[in-house]
Amino acid sequence: MIIEKILIVDPIDGEYCGDVEIEEGIIVNVRKKENFPRYVLMPGFVDPHTHGRAGIDCMSASSVEFEIWAEHVRKEGVSFLFPTTISSSKKLLEKVIYNFSKAYHPILSFLHFEGPFISKEKAGAQNKQYIMGFSKNKLPHLKNNVKIITAAPEVKGFEKLVKFAKDNNIIISLGHSNGTFKDFKSAFEQGIDRITHFPNALRTFYHREIGPIGAAFLYKFYVELIIDNVHLSPYFVKLMYKILGPERIILITDSISATGLKDGIYELGGLLVKVENGIAKTEEGILAGSTLRYIDAVKNFKKATNCSLKELSMVTSYNALKNLGMRGGRIKEGYPAKLVLLDENLNVVSTII
Ligand code: FE
Repeated sequence: MIIEKILIVDPIDGEYCGDVEIEEGIIVNVRKKENFPRYVLMPGFVDPHTHGRAGIDCMSASSVEFEIWAEHVRKEGVSFLFPTTISSSKKLLEKVIYNFSKAYHPILSFLHFEGPFISKEKAGAQNKQYIMGFSKNKLPHLKNNVKIITAAPEVKGFEKLVKFAKDNNIIISLGHSNGTFKDFKSAFEQGIDRITHFPNALRTFYHREIGPIGAAFLYKFYVELIIDNVHLSPYFVKLMYKILGPERIILITDSISATGLKDGIYELGGLLVKVENGIAKTEEGILAGSTLRYIDAVKNFKKATNCSLKELSMVTSYNALKNLGMRGGRIKEGYPAKLVLLDENLNVVSTII
C-alpha cells in the first residue's frame, strides 16, 4: 500500500511532502517529494487514559464491548487505546483483566489502573471505599495486561509498589495525590516521571509549598492533560505549552461511557454520573471524567497553543509511547504503520492500521 501526495508529520524529522509505503503493517519506505499535498499524515493518536465510550464502561465491559469501544475511537484516529479502571474490589478488577485479555482489536494496547493506591483526600470521582495502601496481594494477577498504574506517592507501601512496577514492566503515573513537593521529588528520584491528568486531583500550587505542580515545573515529568476546556482553561494549556514544552505533554481524554451520547445519567465504575451540556459530575458536583473525543482534544490543543503539526504529533502520540517504552509514534521506515490521515482542518479522513 502506498499513501501518496501527503504532508508527512514526524515528531523528530518534522513536516515534509512525500509518499509512504506500507507492507504487512510496517512502514517500509518514506520518500520525500516536491508536490502539493492533499492531506496530512500523522502518527496515530494514543489515548492512555480513558474510562469508556458509547455506553460502554471499562469496569463492566465484556470482551466484545472492548472491541466495539476500540472501533469507535479508531474511526477518530486513535491507534493505541488504554482502557482505564477506577478503584474497585480485587474481584472486579480481576474480571476486567479477564474480559480485556479476551478482546481482540489492533488498537487495544494495555489497561491503565487508576487507583486503588491513591489518596482519599484527592479521590475525585473514585469510590473511597476501595482506596488503600499498596501490598502485592491486594492486586489481582495482572498477566501482562496492565501498563500504567496511577498511584499517590504518599500512600503506604509506595516504595514496594515502585519495585513491583519495575519487576513487572509497569509505568507508575503519580496522581490523585495530596502529596507535597518533597513526595513528588522523591518519587522522581526513584525513576517515576509521569503525572496523571495534571493538575486535577492534586494539591494546589502555593509559593511556600510548591507541591506537585512545582515539582512538574522543576523536574522533567511527563504530564497528562485533558484538553476539554472544562478540566483546564485554554490559557492554562497555553501556559503549560510554554513552561513544559511539547516534549513533556501527553493528551488524554479521560472520557467516560457517556462520550458520543446525549446528556443524561451514566455510570462510572458503579458511581452514578450526571452529564449536563457534556460535563460529567457526581451527585456531589465533582468532575467525573469527560465526554471528550480524542480528535477534539487535538483540535483544542492546536487552538490553545498554535503549535506546529510536528509538536502536535509529539503530544498526541510520540511522547506517550516513548514514556511507556513502546515502539511507535513515528513516520519512519521500520515503525508500525499506525497512522491517521487528516484534512487541513484536522478532520479525520481515515485511520490506517
Ligand atoms: Fe482520575
